[in-house]
Amino acid sequence: MKTFTKGVHPAGCKDLSEREKIGAGPEPAHVWLALSQHIGAPAVPVVEPGQRVLRGQLVAKKAEGLSANIYSPIAGVVKEVAGHITISGKKKDHIRIENDFTDEEMLLPRLAEPDGAAVLARIEEAGIVGMGGAGFPTAAKLAVGGRADVLVVNGAECEPYITCDHRIMLEYADDLLRGIRFAMLACGAKRAVIGIEKNKRDAIELLSAKCGGDISVRPLRTRYPQGAEKQLVYGCTGRTIPEGKLPVDAGAVVVNVHTALSIFRAVELGEPCYRRVMTVSGKAAKKCGNFWVKNGTPLRDLAGFCGGDENCARIVCGGPMMGDAVFSLKICTAKTSSSLLFLDESECESKVASVCIGCGRCVQACPMGLSPTFIEEALFKKDYAEAKRYGALACIGCGCCSYVCPAKRFLAQSVKLAKKIIGERKI
Ligand code: SF4
Ligand code: SF4
Repeated sequence: MKTFTKGVHPAGCKDLSEREKIGAGPEPAHVWLALSQHIGAPAVPVVEPGQRVLRGQLVAKKAEGLSANIYSPIAGVVKEVAGHITISGKKKDHIRIENDFTDEEMLLPRLAEPDGAAVLARIEEAGIVGMGGAGFPTAAKLAVGGRADVLVVNGAECEPYITCDHRIMLEYADDLLRGIRFAMLACGAKRAVIGIEKNKRDAIELLSAKCGGDISVRPLRTRYPQGAEKQLVYGCTGRTIPEGKLPVDAGAVVVNVHTALSIFRAVELGEPCYRRVMTVSGKAAKKCGNFWVKNGTPLRDLAGFCGGDENCARIVCGGPMMGDAVFSLKICTAKTSSSLLFLDESECESKVASVCIGCGRCVQACPMGLSPTFIEEALFKKDYAEAKRYGALACIGCGCCSYVCPAKRFLAQSVKLAKKIIGERKI
């Protein structure tokens, strides 16, 4: 079994939710749909305040270039297009829709026996983006013009606590395999490999029994960040993505398990991307599990549905390695929101950073072969050219360096900041 070097082994903590079947999430009275839930330009609203919309109706159209359509997850009335707080701390434009609880729908027509071009067009029309967290518009990713011979399906789900992909593989196996076939059709890949960490033995067995021929399952060693693109492609195909290049440069395209399921739903059910499965977990969650959550649901509604008890010390959106601490429950879910964690004191580390002791553990842990401590030093000196020379742009934000640092330094955040500044200043 091929596997990447370095990385870490954090406690999985998946037992809190991995045996819970996917259930219905809360029915929000209002949704706030961010116009930017994806990589690329924000979508452009096509509705006006006062207008009634149905579930599944287009409310914002993709902008020119890289962007994605946005659909309403509820039936109701558009109240406003205005700035609303996001997890980054910045206000960004959202469409607010008030639910009339009629649940009237307006889905896309189902595609009967579509070819690759029709599937690709449907993926774009349905506003599907990478649902593993990256948010890259999927149609753009799959439009590789025959340069990829293998589709790598990410079922690694290496982040602690998160189990939504695991449950999808168990409960929607047939739909998932059909979604994978549609994705193969769209990108022209001759075969697909589903990479699954070995801690999900039941999913490996089920999918191995169901697939065959041009779709296979590759059990992967349980090690974080096994689901990162470079590491996953290597584990599933043995191919190395050259530095600064994309998976397609190694003949591969990567889609996440949830993304493949969304492709199936868009093509065969005519359902655009307006909801997703989210994991709710943590020792302070009242009800751990996996739920279908409508895009734009305020975190307050999720918290009311299954949220934190009196022991809740921290709320995290996403996983504990790559997620963000929640500072306001007004923030709303998006296409990329995979989980909401309610953590008690025993699950949170209170960090007071001290001086680097030069132990080198961050270097040993970085799966991208970087020297996070040197990049941080360059950032503090405001020498962004040096940070770039140390490879800051290759950082995948996995958090391994912060996780292992005995001085509790905020290394991942520093490298992320350096990367942002290098990009903004075009250094
Ligand atoms: S520098 Fe980036 S890629 Fe390397 S361990 Fe830290 S967060 Fe991960
Ligand atoms: S792990 Fe922490 S203490 Fe060790 S070299 Fe890296 S920054 Fe310094």
